[in-house]
Amino acid sequence: MAQEYDLVILGGGTGGYVAAIRASQLGLKTAIVEKGKLGGTCLHKGCIPSKALLRSAEVYHQTKNSEAFGVIAGEVSLDFTKVQERKETIVSQLHRGVQHLMKQGKIDVYEGIGRILGPSIFSPMPGTVSVEMNDGTDNEMLIPKNVIIATGSRPRTLPGLEIDGQYVMTSDEALAMENLPKSIIIVGGGVIGIEWASMLNDFGVEVTVIEYSDRIIPTEDKEISKEMQRVLKKKGITFVTSAKVMPETLQKGEGEGVVIQAEVKNDIKSFTAEKMLVSVGRQANVEGIGIEQNTTIEIDKGFILTNEFYQTKESHIYAIGDVIGGLQLAHVASHEGITAVEHIANLKPHKLDYTLISKCIYSSPEAASVGLTEDEAKEKGHNVKVGKFSFKAIGKALVYGESDGFVKIVADKDTDDILGVHMIGPHVTDMISEAGLAKVLDATPWEVAHTIHPHPTLSEAIGEAALAVDGLAIHS
Ligand SMILES: Cc1cc2nc3c(=O)[nH]c(=O)nc-3n(C[C@H](O)[C@H](O)[C@H](O)COP(=O)(O)OP(=O)(O)OC[C@H]3O[C@@H](n4cnc5c(N)ncnc54)[C@H](O)[C@@H]3O)c2cc1C
Repeated sequence: MAQEYDLVILGGGTGGYVAAIRASQLGLKTAIVEKGKLGGTCLHKGCIPSKALLRSAEVYHQTKNSEAFGVIAGEVSLDFTKVQERKETIVSQLHRGVQHLMKQGKIDVYEGIGRILGPSIFSPMPGTVSVEMNDGTDNEMLIPKNVIIATGSRPRTLPGLEIDGQYVMTSDEALAMENLPKSIIIVGGGVIGIEWASMLNDFGVEVTVIEYSDRIIPTEDKEISKEMQRVLKKKGITFVTSAKVMPETLQKGEGEGVVIQAEVKNDIKSFTAEKMLVSVGRQANVEGIGIEQNTTIEIDKGFILTNEFYQTKESHIYAIGDVIGGLQLAHVASHEGITAVEHIANLKPHKLDYTLISKCIYSSPEAASVGLTEDEAKEKGHNVKVGKFSFKAIGKALVYGESDGFVKIVADKDTDDILGVHMIGPHVTDMISEAGLAKVLDATPWEVAHTIHPHPTLSEAIGEAALAVDGLAIHS
């Protein structure tokens, strides 16, 4: 039987389920169609499981190196089955939480594959959603006033570099590994590649990162990339930059693991490891959901095109999250979802300002940023001034035993606006929100510096970097 809704959301990932909760708060009769598990990539294959593994790696590494703190731990060993069990427990707990939130919001959840139909007997407009139910029962037909497409993304690979799950993996397969390999080649030194490199290295795996660009995490400020590479190299990771992997040279098999060649600055080099992780970006899930056949929705470079309120060419069909590209982050997906729902409910929401969104890398050391890099600021014509402060002069960082890294603030000399804040070092992913708030409030470096930072805290580095913008840092 056909069911009518104010809103049907295709995909119950971070973008989809948060949008559903906001819709329910606003009194919209809402349904989610999810073919896998509520929580999507972030909860089951992304943010949460990867951070659980990173935390185990950190504890293992710290325990092995605890003598520097006067703590003699004796022989330290790793039970990777327990590491995986801990990860699963955290994911399951949060999954139950999302299921509870759906019940609480009286949001109907259809477990199955959703497809958008064209004009039909159900509606003169495209947008009726047919659901092929996972349990094999008859297709459900949902007739919504509005639709949000939040179908997310999946790992991309390189042509010819086939993912077999055993020798060549993406982050999806790597998260499910039962045992750690002795060595690994990571193709791609972006955010996901660097988090895995750091985690596996802390677990004791020999890691080689092969990156096409001339630096790792190329979307971050150059100085952050340089410091990340320096610190991770010191911890034992091998980096090969300006390197183009040659998929056609891949050999794999029992005993030999993987062997692959790469063109490195006009030279051909060969790399060998037990396994390979391919982390070269994510591809939007736009296929098989009826967009191309049944709607006028436009797709550009593989991503759904929308306006600033996430309306597609069909104004009652919205799209949010990884499926529209841009910053493919969980908090971006959820805020796009909230904005789309508020637009549907005629609440006149503010458009998201992507220069105010913080980005984090949960490696060890961590990195985090908001706003423009120094180069971007210069390219945009700003007369730039920069303040930088090292964690080496921060007491709390020395107490932690983690004094690599710095806070860098990029500001405009003429207007005194903060253009960007870039951090690398201990717990910076938890500190970046101060910089985010400063950007939202349009604060000047003076205002950040005069937000008195308690002593001893890591956040003192932010206050000092803000003073450093005008050459006034106290401890440098
Ligand atoms: C290894 C890794 C680590 C990450 N770490 C972080 C991090 O630390 N912080 C961060 O902010 N971001 C992180 N991300 C990115 C983050 O996971 C994504 O940006 C976020 O999940 C996007 O949310 P979404 O709702 O757009 O899509 P998704 O979470 O991908 O959800 C889409 C959902 O739609 C469902 N679906 C697809 N097609 C259909 C269909 N036809 N019918 C029904 N259901 C369908 C899928 O099953 C899925 O559940 C990470 C990603 C990865 C891979």
